[in-house]
Amino acid sequence: MDCFQHAGTAAIGLCKHCAKGLCPACAADLGFGLACRGSHEAEVSDAHALWLHCQRMQGTQRSLRSLTPMYFLVIGAIMIGYDLHAGARTLTSSIALGLVFAFVGVVVALKMWRAPQIPATRH
Ligand SMILES: [Zn+2]
Ligand SMILES: [Zn+2]
Repeated sequence: MDCFQHAGTAAIGLCKHCAKGLCPACAADLGFGLACRGSHEAEVSDAHALWLHCQRMQGTQRSLRSLTPMYFLVIGAIMIGYDLHAGARTLTSSIALGLVFAFVGVVVALKMWRAPQIPATRH
């Protein structure tokens, strides 16, 4: 394939924005891909920054999701522990709430641990 501006000059790659063939003189190497020098460099780096941002957001959500059961268990334990420590002898509302939190944490944890095993089940 030839450069879209210089017929007869072999293209070294495609612009990530407009997908035209670029020769070394027309290509701007941005490190993660090529762009038309002077015309699409900004578009391509913006698109890459957005993509990186999305990747990071997805990673954050994944790690937060795996922390959810721990969060419920810890909150539940703190609520129960606090009232027991304060000398509660009966089922106070915060102990009850703490038990609910801990229960939700266990249920969420069990659901999450079971979920990845479903596709592996063979009949
Ligand atoms: Zn371009
Ligand atoms: Zn060229």
